[in-house]
Amino acid sequence: MTRADLIIYNIGQLVTFKEGPQPARALRDPRNAGIIENAGIAIRGERVIDVGSTSRILTEYEAEARINADGRLVTPGLVDSHTHLIFAGSREDEFEMKLQGYSYSEILARGGGIYRTVRATRQASVQELRRLLLERLLLMVRHGTTVVEVKTGYGLLPEYEVKMLNALEGLDSPGLPKIIPTLLAHVIPQEYKNRRQEYINLFIKEIIPRSLAAKVKPLYIDVFCDKGAFNIEETRRILEAGMGHGLRVRLHAEELAYIGCSDLAGEFQIDSIDHLEYLPAKNIELLVAKRTVANLLPTSMLSIFSEKKPPVNELREKGAIIAVSTDYNPNNMNPVLATTMDIATYLLGLTPLEALAAATINAAWSLRIDNVHGRIVPGAAADIVVWDVPSYKWIGYEWGHDKTLVVVARGAMVKNELGGTC
Ligand SMILES: [Zn+2]
Repeated sequence: MTRADLIIYNIGQLVTFKEGPQPARALRDPRNAGIIENAGIAIRGERVIDVGSTSRILTEYEAEARINADGRLVTPGLVDSHTHLIFAGSREDEFEMKLQGYSYSEILARGGGIYRTVRATRQASVQELRRLLLERLLLMVRHGTTVVEVKTGYGLLPEYEVKMLNALEGLDSPGLPKIIPTLLAHVIPQEYKNRRQEYINLFIKEIIPRSLAAKVKPLYIDVFCDKGAFNIEETRRILEAGMGHGLRVRLHAEELAYIGCSDLAGEFQIDSIDHLEYLPAKNIELLVAKRTVANLLPTSMLSIFSEKKPPVNELREKGAIIAVSTDYNPNNMNPVLATTMDIATYLLGLTPLEALAAATINAAWSLRIDNVHGRIVPGAAADIVVWDVPSYKWIGYEWGHDKTLVVVARGAMVKNELGGTC
């Protein structure tokens, strides 16, 4: 018998996603999801050491901690590949104003919107930002999210952007979601209102290099390329500068209008383009050819009351790799990626298996961590969720409550409502 720290057995349906990423089209054949019936998993330390039938795992491994999944669904931990998790303050009164019919420009004129969050975030201490972040991370992991991408972008000036990155220090530990940091060029700060080019120069010459000297360095550069944010020329300059410093590229694009941002997928290796409600048909094949992930944010569409949807059918038919993310931010306070998966079935028309792949292996691929996260194979991080349903077909089908019973994040037991011998 080989020693393990934790065995999960009697798994009714284990979705491993051992081959990935998975274009939505490929998941019409569920065998491509690497599904094992009546499965078991052996875990040692932070890693999965074996996956197979319950009988073989129980024959070959011993562990003090054992969980009987009793026929339930087990999946990889969820990977939230687009969030704005670090910020101070809240904007619940603006939510009410929007429902009362005020426009975003009227809300901005009353001192609201993004600049209100910028002010609150600048005023908060790094300790306060870290405390808020930790609260949100704990909430997310208890609902099954084991990896989270976190963007800056509410500091806007060099010292505050560095402060946002410094707030991430000390949070990389088993039991919390793994954080992938991104430096985001979000909007032009009010101080540079009529000096756009000066701000672009500041971002390139100061913010990018200083971010790389922060206590936690970004792995990605991201630009909010859209109508009213950065234009395509500005975006190109910022991305080139970020890449020059070794950062990989993600992009906010085509949320509010098509201004050509997704064309940049032809010029740069962009790992993920996010939003895409206004993605033109001509660029779908470009995303497919470059294996750039189409990262869809359905609750973000709800938060701006937009009825414009990304071209999901065309993305699926042409073989695009689709991810879904929460886009957690003060204008879209949904921290639960499992809820986003459910909503993605209704709002975007993803099948349950497409939604699951979109929130695990495909999201992990978009962050280039799919060798370790987003799948359950020997050697991968022990990021595991036991759901209170028998199969993936219950994603979307039953929703509106927390279906997670057990969450393991990098080998640490975050939540266990099944009991067992641990
Ligand atoms: Zn965003």
